[in-house]
Amino acid sequence: MAILTRNLFILFLITLFFGSGYLVWTIENRLPERSYSEFRYCLKNHDISNMTFTGNRVVISHRAGETSTSPGFTYKTTVPNPEELIAELKDKDIRIVFNKDRSEFILQALGLFYIILLIIVIVLSLNRIKKEEEKSRFTTDKLVRPNDGHKIVTFKDVAGIPEALEELLEIIEFLRNPDQFSQVGATIPKGVLLQGPPGTGKTLVARAIAGEAGVPFYSFSGSDFVEMFVGVGASRVRDLFKEAKKNAPCIVFIDEIDAVGGSRSSGSSASGSDERSQTLNALLVEMDGFTSTDNIIVLAATNRPDILDSALRRPGRFDRQVTILPPDIVGRQKILQIHAAKIKTSPDLDLSQIAQMCPGFTGADLANLVNEAALMAARSGKSAVDCTDFELARDRILMGVEHKGMIMTEKDRSILAYHEAGHAIIAKTLPEADPLHKITIIPRGSALGQTQQLPLFDRHAYSYIYLKNRITILMGGRAAEDIALNQRSTGAQGDILQATEIATNMICKWGMSEDMGPQAFIVDDSGFLGGSSQRLPMADKTARDIDSEIKTLLATCYENAATIISQKFYLLKNLAGILVQVETLDNEEFDIIVACSDTNKCNSEECDCYTCPAGQSCILSKIKK
Ligand code: ADP
Ligand code: ZN
Repeated sequence: MAILTRNLFILFLITLFFGSGYLVWTIENRLPERSYSEFRYCLKNHDISNMTFTGNRVVISHRAGETSTSPGFTYKTTVPNPEELIAELKDKDIRIVFNKDRSEFILQALGLFYIILLIIVIVLSLNRIKKEEEKSRFTTDKLVRPNDGHKIVTFKDVAGIPEALEELLEIIEFLRNPDQFSQVGATIPKGVLLQGPPGTGKTLVARAIAGEAGVPFYSFSGSDFVEMFVGVGASRVRDLFKEAKKNAPCIVFIDEIDAVGGSRSSGSSASGSDERSQTLNALLVEMDGFTSTDNIIVLAATNRPDILDSALRRPGRFDRQVTILPPDIVGRQKILQIHAAKIKTSPDLDLSQIAQMCPGFTGADLANLVNEAALMAARSGKSAVDCTDFELARDRILMGVEHKGMIMTEKDRSILAYHEAGHAIIAKTLPEADPLHKITIIPRGSALGQTQQLPLFDRHAYSYIYLKNRITILMGGRAAEDIALNQRSTGAQGDILQATEIATNMICKWGMSEDMGPQAFIVDDSGFLGGSSQRLPMADKTARDIDSEIKTLLATCYENAATIISQKFYLLKNLAGILVQVETLDNEEFDIIVACSDTNKCNSEECDCYTCPAGQSCILSKIKK
């Protein structure tokens, strides 16, 4: 508002200046005023030479002569009716001039000009005020102070990433007690780059650091800086650091820094990258500009460290990098504990079991899982969340919503049942495969059926046998269709793609082929999001050899799968028949069917599981306890 008042004041001064100028000018130009009756008198005495009409104002000049009151005298008067007067003057020897009423025109023009000027001044001032407010809001909006009512995040809210927290403890120490560090001349890193896949808790960790240290926390996203107009981002960066210095010690957090810090050489569209690189430059300059006595720590997070500009990592900028990876099974359990504390769980809920069910889940996935489970429980009217809810929630997250209403013909369902039964039998037969968890022919998300296995522990390295078994299990679906129904369906598309990927990686990346040797033929150019891989340059013959190796590996696995399926043909038939009826089987039920499909072990008198349909109803009665 101050700006508006100031501008209006300036305008007022200008008006005063011109106004008084005009006044002086008119005073100087003022002629003596005479009354109309005096003029009538003069007119009667014939001593008028000139009359200049401006509207009903008339300037009258007298001829010098004996009768005149004074020689060459000029004055002004107002006539009530100019037309009548002019008619009266017709046969008199007076020169008459008609003037356009200029002064009135000037006054009008001045008035108009003045109004326009006033509007312009007001509009400009308001604009300025808005911009100024936006600018200060841009930084103040993103500021979280330690005691202004926001929920403070501390290390208690973070679990499963102990290594990362340990690395950052030092930073907290510094923020709490900067003098201790400066006394011994130690400098603390200005910037820390948190890198890791999305949802692993990078933002959470940054907030926890601020919470632990009890300092103000500015939180931005890289995209906040990048605007349509070149230069906006850079000026925002400068404002931000100016503000931060006022509030030091403090933490500035820039999420998704790749939005501004993307490599400048990987040039995207010209204008966009212009703005980005200006913003990045401003950031670099600011980071170089403050010293460790400014007590500002810049934290940045990214899930694309591979595309970051190398200038960002140079000493004095983000010279410390902390990688945060998805938690292991123990970590998952701890994270689940944190989030499950916010909901009502049933007393027999075993979180370690749930942690085992979710390999590869990040902290954000787990938080989502807990919420979904609570929703499931609420929907089915339960008073506490139990293990079934977690399982349903997990399936929903992993595979999408069940398409219960999807209409499939009996024939399609039968093909699907054979396909899934094929996967399951191989998974159950092969050693070193992950235990079976669930088989279903209810379509979910984009998949028609599913055979799930659950690893007992998190795998970080995969053995040759494990991978080969994995391919064989994938081939089990197609092999079962082939053998039992003598046909091939498109349902195996996903399996074949996945099998081919594994086989290719085994030979080209992991050096697992005898003939090709321990040599890499493809490289990943991936960040945490799993980018694409590229074949390295190679001789034509090598490429042909690789192709034939992959082909042989896949064919061998398929043969293996087909052999197992043929050997267990009756089991396959039973399993598929039951799946069509019950749609979903778990590991326990699967074991019962295996037991019953072996005539020697079946203990029901009338049961002849291999051949008669009654055999199936016998099994059904057992699994539908
Ligand atoms: P990122 O920034 O890495 O994408 P976030 O920090 O935004 O991930 O995480 C999103 C949410 O996931 C957090 O608000 C929190 O609820 C949950 N979360 C993620 N990691 C953890 C963790 N290690 N411990 C507890 N909760 C976590
Ligand atoms: Zn399949």
